[in-house]
Amino acid sequence: MRKLLVTTLLGAVAMPAFAEEVNVYSHRQPQLIQPLIDAFTAETGIPVNIAFVDKGMVERLQAEGDRSPADLILTVDVARLGEVKDAGVTQEFRNEALDAAVPAELRDADGQWYGLTTRARIIYANKERVADGEVTTYEDLADPKWKGRICTRSFTNDYNVALTAAYLAHHGAEATRTWLEGVKANLAKKPEGGDRDQVKSIWAGECDISLGNTYYMGQMVADPEQQPWAESVRIVFPTFEGGGTHVNVSGIAMTKSAPNKDAAIKLAEFLAGDEAQKIYAETNHEFPVKAGVARSELVQGWGEFTPDALALSEISKLRPDAIKLIEEVDFDN
Ligand code: FE
Repeated sequence: MRKLLVTTLLGAVAMPAFAEEVNVYSHRQPQLIQPLIDAFTAETGIPVNIAFVDKGMVERLQAEGDRSPADLILTVDVARLGEVKDAGVTQEFRNEALDAAVPAELRDADGQWYGLTTRARIIYANKERVADGEVTTYEDLADPKWKGRICTRSFTNDYNVALTAAYLAHHGAEATRTWLEGVKANLAKKPEGGDRDQVKSIWAGECDISLGNTYYMGQMVADPEQQPWAESVRIVFPTFEGGGTHVNVSGIAMTKSAPNKDAAIKLAEFLAGDEAQKIYAETNHEFPVKAGVARSELVQGWGEFTPDALALSEISKLRPDAIKLIEEVDFDN
């Protein structure tokens, strides 16, 4: 029997090979994925092996080449989905069930990746120091009235690169550069830490608003230490002028080598189906991509918003230009 050696969080583990199985390289943390995998295996009897790949997904798949045991890549952000596609380590796996479940703007135009959940990039605003309606657009963040009041993580971070790429798609390079300079001029401090650290800074009185992904609110609420940070802010769904709220995805791609393609497609279909979409919504505080699947109660409480209509594959194409502008204005320094 063939044995696969895969490095996980826990170290090197030998994976037994079954007649039908699926091997997943996951950039998502194993505890977020496990309930979904368990449900799939319970329903189909197909075992799924997950290797947590924190860094170097592309390098690893390139090094393994045709001998790679991986069938599927689970990751977050259109940046990383675009990266594996551009590196040539994925293949098309378009099919009717997936196309029906995942809206066109949330999947690759060439059928090489599909979004499975969405998250909005929103503004966390201090309940006392920011009035209702005081900030409603991404463009607002460059207004000098926010001088010394904004906190953010690095703008070279994938989430902010995608936001900047979306800004570029809406307004063009010159306006985007001016916006980046304006936001930078409004920062309360140098970008550092993750999205939740910015909310902590708001709680501590260092700034009044920050950029962050929606699901972090769910994570903060669930953590006794972070709960006070969450309670100091409310969620504002900003829009682009003439557009909607920027959303990004977690998603799935098929590796080029995929030794178990048929079973892997079954897993991809399952993850885009009603049961898995509900699990995603409940455990990860994300928005299901499939129409008709309810958001969790907590997520519903954040209110309604209009997602931006730009296709993520369009945003993905503008990433290099976005990174160039972020570096040119030296945003993080
Ligand atoms: Fe995140």
